[in-house]
Amino acid sequence: MMMEMAEDTRENIVIVGGGICGLATALALHRKGIRSLVLERSESLRATGVAIIIQSNGWRALDQLGVASYLRQTANPILSGQFKSLNDNKLQKLPVGKEELRCVKRTDLMNIMADNLPQNTVRFGCNVLSIELDPITSSPVLKLQDGTSLNAKVVIGCDGVNSTISYMMGATATNIFNVCGIRGFTSYPSGHEFGSELKLTKKDDVQVGLLPMTTNLVYWFLTRKYISCKSKISHSQKLIGDMAAASVKDFPSSIKEMVENCSLESLHLSDYMRYRPPCDVLRRRFRVGTVTVAGDAWHAMAPFIAQGGSASLEDAVVLARCLARRTIVGIPSGRMSKTMVEEALDEYLKERKPRVLRLSLQTYLIGKMHDTSSKFIKFICTVFMAIIFYDSHGHTRYDCGTL
Ligand SMILES: Cc1cc2nc3c(=O)[nH]c(=O)nc-3n(C[C@H](O)[C@H](O)[C@H](O)COP(=O)(O)OP(=O)(O)OC[C@H]3O[C@@H](n4cnc5c(N)ncnc54)[C@H](O)[C@@H]3O)c2cc1C
Repeated sequence: MMMEMAEDTRENIVIVGGGICGLATALALHRKGIRSLVLERSESLRATGVAIIIQSNGWRALDQLGVASYLRQTANPILSGQFKSLNDNKLQKLPVGKEELRCVKRTDLMNIMADNLPQNTVRFGCNVLSIELDPITSSPVLKLQDGTSLNAKVVIGCDGVNSTISYMMGATATNIFNVCGIRGFTSYPSGHEFGSELKLTKKDDVQVGLLPMTTNLVYWFLTRKYISCKSKISHSQKLIGDMAAASVKDFPSSIKEMVENCSLESLHLSDYMRYRPPCDVLRRRFRVGTVTVAGDAWHAMAPFIAQGGSASLEDAVVLARCLARRTIVGIPSGRMSKTMVEEALDEYLKERKPRVLRLSLQTYLIGKMHDTSSKFIKFICTVFMAIIFYDSHGHTRYDCGTL
């Protein structure tokens, strides 16, 4: 007979990190009637990075979380797409429009998830410094920056690319692509000219993408090679704006104007793009006892196919479903046995692994093509892409299933 973990003053499920993944996981659990506590080190919701592109797989997950219909009202669908290379003036139609694609403000996404959580689910100003397993009970103990410790029955690390929880699992720091990105919003009070089309334009190592969010607001991003002076720039909105404007000086006037007229406060520079190598995702075991990870803490993948956020939403749905399966058989969540939790976490990792591995690999190959100056490596990546990812948008058709 399995030993039940006694009901006590310990927290049942603690989620470390209140970003997209942490909030989505807490919300998914809440929808299944399972309480959790989110520890977030910032003093308030932290929505870095302006906006987020959500493709149909992400919308399916948001539908399950019950927040998609609200978000759809904030962002128009993108109905077509084109890629233009200014080096050879080639224009290419992108396979966009058949599946749902919208770009939402990160603050809208975070706020609506937080608003749907029971009061006091998120505890702000809680920086988790380390985690260890109690030598006697083997349940997780979190050490917080304020000197206190918190005992938990289950810990889910949603603490992003530099995850403290994934270090506990032996995952070392993430790698970087030598590519940096700037993102921003531009308002067009009398309406913009871009319709509902996603436009990608490339010249040399600079690529600009723009996505109309409403008839008056456009989200844009540019990626370019990383140059080492950037860390100073990232602290000044004006310098980020200058760098963006300089990067697009040879682009068509509509793009130059969009970048020059952007809202300075919205600008955000990602100095370089972090990722966890696909081989690490493949071979490492991301569960220790009743501790696991989700979102970027598990599979940081850089934004080349704009799937990191949506993959985090999918993680949340699957993880909550797996945990809930073990609780509906008449056992309240607080009295789940350790074995049951471990089984649920293994089931979650098993279901998610092939999915996140494919996303990581596809992103890695595209990232390498941006990153390298070696023609040979570019060629190898192109061959792999053509063989493994011949359907380059297949990842958007994934369905994480019902909660
Ligand atoms: C330039 C760029 C563009 C992107 N564009 C897209 C896109 O268009 N579409 C898409 O799907 N994805 C995109 N992504 C990826 C997406 O942003 C991430 O995958 C997503 O934010 C991951 O969410 P997360 O909650 O796992 O991590 P995070 O958003 O990093 O959240 C982690 C949270 O944990 C907190 N935290 C960290 N450590 C601790 C600690 N020790 N104690 C307590 N709290 C802690 C942090 O304060 C933070 O709030 C982009 C990424 C970048 C860099």
